[in-house]
Amino acid sequence: MTKRIIIILSLALSYLGAVPALAQDYSKVEIKSTKVAGNVYMLEGAGGNIGVSVGPDGLLIVDDQFAPLADKIKAALRNLGEGKLKFVLNTHWHGDHTGGNASFSAEAPIIAHDNVRRRLASGQRLEIFKETIPAAPKEALPVITFDQSLSVHFNGEEIRVIHFPHGHTDGDSVIFFSGSNVVHLGDDFFAGRFPFVDLESGGSVQGLIKNVDEIIPKLPADVKLIPGHGPISTVEDLKAYRRMLVETTDLVRKQLAAGKTLEQVKKAGLPDEWKSWGTGFIKTELWLEIVFRSLSVK
Ligand SMILES: [Zn+2]
Repeated sequence: MTKRIIIILSLALSYLGAVPALAQDYSKVEIKSTKVAGNVYMLEGAGGNIGVSVGPDGLLIVDDQFAPLADKIKAALRNLGEGKLKFVLNTHWHGDHTGGNASFSAEAPIIAHDNVRRRLASGQRLEIFKETIPAAPKEALPVITFDQSLSVHFNGEEIRVIHFPHGHTDGDSVIFFSGSNVVHLGDDFFAGRFPFVDLESGGSVQGLIKNVDEIIPKLPADVKLIPGHGPISTVEDLKAYRRMLVETTDLVRKQLAAGKTLEQVKKAGLPDEWKSWGTGFIKTELWLEIVFRSLSVK
């Protein structure tokens, strides 16, 4: 294997955290903390962006990246406030968002959609990466689950957790920090890059577009958005992402209707306008494959 292939493979594996400590050298990862607005901060390290509510009631976190980073994340949280960790929310089950659960559950209850617990508890297969993820231990499972939505009244605001079905997975939640005017969109939003859509976990590209269409009207114009991956964003950034989803999906749909194969769709590629969107974890060809497969499901 060439070095390049090894790097690509280890990035792909570390994205979902199936091969935790071996695939990536977490000792080099630093946790960067940024104030978003109001009570809310964002932590970046490796994996999905972490949202943090900091205030007189203590700390609440949204997602917890990879298990080997838990101590570094805890140190970053101590720098944000003296208060205790009171709640952990998971936006969805993927290992780059829930890998720290087993460590953080000793301090605070984990809250997530029913399907997050179900998928973590049973283990999963990610066909597109030829990857099998074993069942998570009991300590990593959410202990409070919900079907549609719930609210945590914390640090002087209502933190509203709303489930959006069949987008990135079938267990995604979007977290509205109503007083701080910040929204964490989990992996329904990859800012400025093609998203991974987990078709084996009940996700769908068409469902993702529908979710984004439902989320946009709920957002005040000056809201700050925390994407699952990528920098702090605005409503305009989310609208650009929506346009990318709609236009690239339409292109694939037309080719499917004309009887093109996946290989032909990949070879045709996408207009230059979307080139920079394929420089993240999901390259253009893989994005086209995800869209093709999603549209092909009957
Ligand atoms: Zn994900």
